[in-house]
This record gives sequence, C-alpha cells and structure tokens, in this order.
Amino acid sequence: MIIVMKAHATEAEIQAVVTAVEELDYRGHIIRGVERTVVACVGEERGEQHSLAHLVAFAGVEQVMPVLKSYKLASREVRPEGSVIDVGGVKIGGKKIAVMAGPCAVESAEQVESSADAVKHGGAHLLRGGAYKPRTSPYAFQGMESEGLSLLEHAGKRVGLPIVSEIMEAADIELFVAHADMLQVGARNAQNFSLLRKLGRTKKPILLKRGMSTRIEEFLMAAEYILSEGNPNVVLCERGIRTFETATRNTLDLNAVPLLKQMTHLPVIVDPSHGTGLWTLVKPMALAAIAAGADGLLIEVHPNPAVALSDGPQQLRPDHFAELVAAVKPVAEAVGRTM
Ligand code: PEP
Ligand code: MN
Repeated sequence: MIIVMKAHATEAEIQAVVTAVEELDYRGHIIRGVERTVVACVGEERGEQHSLAHLVAFAGVEQVMPVLKSYKLASREVRPEGSVIDVGGVKIGGKKIAVMAGPCAVESAEQVESSADAVKHGGAHLLRGGAYKPRTSPYAFQGMESEGLSLLEHAGKRVGLPIVSEIMEAADIELFVAHADMLQVGARNAQNFSLLRKLGRTKKPILLKRGMSTRIEEFLMAAEYILSEGNPNVVLCERGIRTFETATRNTLDLNAVPLLKQMTHLPVIVDPSHGTGLWTLVKPMALAAIAAGADGLLIEVHPNPAVALSDGPQQLRPDHFAELVAAVKPVAEAVGRTM
C-alpha cells in the first residue's frame, strides 16, 4: 500500500501515519517527492485484517492506494518524478548524464593513477575500478583487494572524482563504507539477497548490476531488497544478458532502459563494456544507451588494454574514451540531457 499525503500535510500528520502503519507491523518508508510525500508501507503480505484502508480518515491523508506490483518501493508510482542519487556530490538520475569510468581492475599504483588522469581528462564524473574481482576462474587475477581499494581511493581523491568499486561479500561492508563513495554489486551477486539486505542497512549509494539471466522484474525485486531495509540510494545498471549469441560477450538489452524508466523511479545506467565485450562496440552502444534514455554510463578504460590483467578486449584506450565522451554529448543534448 502507499499512502499519499496531501500537498500541505504537516510533519506531525506524516509521523502519525507512520506510527499507525508500524503498529500494524508494516514498515512505513517516507518518500518525499517534489509535489507530495508518500508513506510506502511494506511488510510480509497478510490477509484482509491488516488492511490499511482506514488510514484514509487520518488528517493529512489524500489517498490510500494498493501497489499491485511485486516491487513496491522501487515502483515509479511512489516517486513519479524519478530519484536522483547523490554520489559524493555527483548526481545520478537528474538532467545531467553521469559517466563512471576506469580500469576493470586496479593493478598497481601507477596503473590506477594513470587511469584516473585519463578518465578525468576525458570527462568522467566518477572513477570506477575493481579491487575485489569476481573471476570465472579461481586461477585468474583476483584483484588487489583492500590494497587496491586504497590505491583507488588515493587516485580518486587526487583527481577529485568520487570512487565506485565492487563489493563481493558482507564481511567487507565496513571497509567499503569507510573508503568508497559507491558500492557496486556485480552481476554474479545480483541475487545474493543476504548481501543486498545488509547493503540496505547502510546509506551508501549502491550500483546494482543486472544478473546475467535476471529478468527485469527479478532485477527490480533485487533492488527492492536494498530499499526495503531503508537504503533508498540505488542505481540500476544494465550490463548485458546471456543469450544464444556468442559473437559478443553478452547481449546488451537496451529494451531494458526505457522499460525500467517506466517501471521504476531509480536511475538506470548502461555498461556497454561488459555488455559487448569488444572495445570497438563500446562507443556505438554508449550512444545508443543515451539515446534510449539512460541516466549514465559505465565504461572500462585502461592506460594500455593490451596488457590488462582482466577484460583487455573491452577496455578503451584513454584517447578512445575521450572520443566517446565527446560523441555522447550531442546525443545527450538531442534527448534533452546535458553532459
Ligand atoms: C565489472 O564491473 O568489472 C564486472 C565484473 O561486471 P559484471 O558484474 O557486470 O560482470
Ligand atoms: Mn570488467
């Protein structure tokens, strides 16, 4: 259920609704929109005796509406104007397109510093790099772990970009909360509900990637796990799905972009690097993503992709990254956005 408050409902009226909702064993999430505040009520689904319909009689309440979809807090109905997530001062989901870029993995101090200079110079707004790498093979490079995270933090601070890095397990939450601006949940953990719940108990922005075989509704339900624990700061990332096609690493599902934008208020960004696996396809698919309505991009950039320890074939050289950003700008403007 969502309880839509009247435009001029007072704080006391809103709190009275939340108290009443919580007495019925629901959680009341206050969502303050531009035009109205709603109290979204979530909890285990039960029978009629717990109906919240009577709350329409409370002072300041405009309407009590059922949310029939399985995802509730993620649903666009609770925030029709869309959410804008602040990541260390960079806004994702507003008019301005957000570009996060950096190497697949932090490999050394020199490599990450050089990557940070390259993406800053090329026009990125956030620096992204993996310190804990979820590799398909246990024998492949697993990342520099906590040392990698501090190298990324240092590089981000030096060039003045907030940092994004992937967290793989709940035991590392404290470390990431202290050192990263945004925590990525990768495709392989996209339905690790216990990790998602725990990330929901922090207030850190979460970049939730779509799982390799996750349907759109399942993707939104994964986001719902984070939201339902009280963390509203979720950005969704389309990164390609597994299909029968093997010419590309994944099939970048750009249908997902306008569809998600209709279904949810959460910002949606696109990762054409993992979505295609081939650097020559990254720029055209980045342009297509922005044309389709994405709020941002995640682009892998390496100072020398030929010697990268992971994902070499899809990482852009610094000059190609700068070209991509320059090419995205007019497309963004054509669809009413800015860079
Ligand atoms: C990554 O972003 O480096 C990564 C491993 O991506 P994904 O989880 O989308 O495969
Ligand atoms: Mn990668």
